[in-house]
Amino acid sequence: MIHFLSRSFLFSAIVLLLSTTFLAAQTQKPTVYILATGGTIAGTGSSSTAAQYKPGDIGVELLLAAVPELSEIAEVKGEQVVNISSQDMTTQIWLSLAHRINEILLQEHVAGVVITHGTDTQEETAYFLNLTVKSHKPVVLTGSMRPSTALSADGPRNLYNAVACVVAPESKGQGVMLLMDDRILSADDVSKTHTLNVSTFQSPNYGPIGYMYDGKPIFIRSSHKRHSLHSEFDVSTLNDLPRVEIIMGYAGANDLFIRAAVQAGVKGIVYAGVGNGNAPAAALEALAAAAQQGIAVVRSSRLPSGPSTQGNEVDDNRLGFAASWMLNPQKARVLLMLALTKTTDYQEIQRMFWEY
Ligand code: ASP
Repeated sequence: MIHFLSRSFLFSAIVLLLSTTFLAAQTQKPTVYILATGGTIAGTGSSSTAAQYKPGDIGVELLLAAVPELSEIAEVKGEQVVNISSQDMTTQIWLSLAHRINEILLQEHVAGVVITHGTDTQEETAYFLNLTVKSHKPVVLTGSMRPSTALSADGPRNLYNAVACVVAPESKGQGVMLLMDDRILSADDVSKTHTLNVSTFQSPNYGPIGYMYDGKPIFIRSSHKRHSLHSEFDVSTLNDLPRVEIIMGYAGANDLFIRAAVQAGVKGIVYAGVGNGNAPAAALEALAAAAQQGIAVVRSSRLPSGPSTQGNEVDDNRLGFAASWMLNPQKARVLLMLALTKTTDYQEIQRMFWEY
């Protein structure tokens, strides 16, 4: 009898233990890291209506405190990487961000990472991370166009949506995303298009990959470009990138800046040309001379959309140039810097511009 009682007691104890462990697992929230880098989302103004403000002013704790709803969907951990306006973003900060994100995402319990960032160079950081983060876990950049002190500040909602996007299972494998104003945009095509509007980020060639609705991402397409685990670039041992400059084309442009860049010892030039990446004769000649000297030359376009295609009006094969395809000049620079960590061959570089 005693034997029977102790067995049934043991059985109930095991059932109780298993069910409490199960319930705890059910209620445990996914861990999301928020890496803060500054920008307008961390900006403060002298009043809630003034246009003037100082970006990168408040720290990550205050950013998180403004959105108490986050604790309902995730266990958030904040880290302050830098606190700058994104016009001061550098390749060194990109590399330390990539290193830190790759470290964080290796932890099994982490669902993903949100990066708060100024909007001016956000698309460049997003694209750099898209090519260097080695995980299918979601990485989402967000920011705001209005400072934290403004009437109708857009930062808190963007931050909530970014975390909600990261914790959703369907966000895995989408590459690095930029989420603002309820829209989810892929890093390869997103671009800032308006100096002031909260809906400044657009995906000019392909449109958004999804929308946030009722705190959940609704995906409508995926980027077909190589990214994250499918990227061939590895920055784990790098502490800087080859120097690449962007030079702009316009009516009457000449060889002045191209020669200056060559003299300064750049490894690559992205030419933000007119139309389909075209350059006036004097500039074209200087670019050809640069390519002859082993400097990688990529033709891109100053236009907001459409591809820069190989060999239309310029004989790229004869001159040893690559064309940027859908990448705008600022993103072409990111890809060229990474490409130059592997090769200086223009055909190999052209392959990368097709694939990424
Ligand atoms: N200049 C600011 C920055 O990029 C603008 C912004 O965040 O919207 O940091």
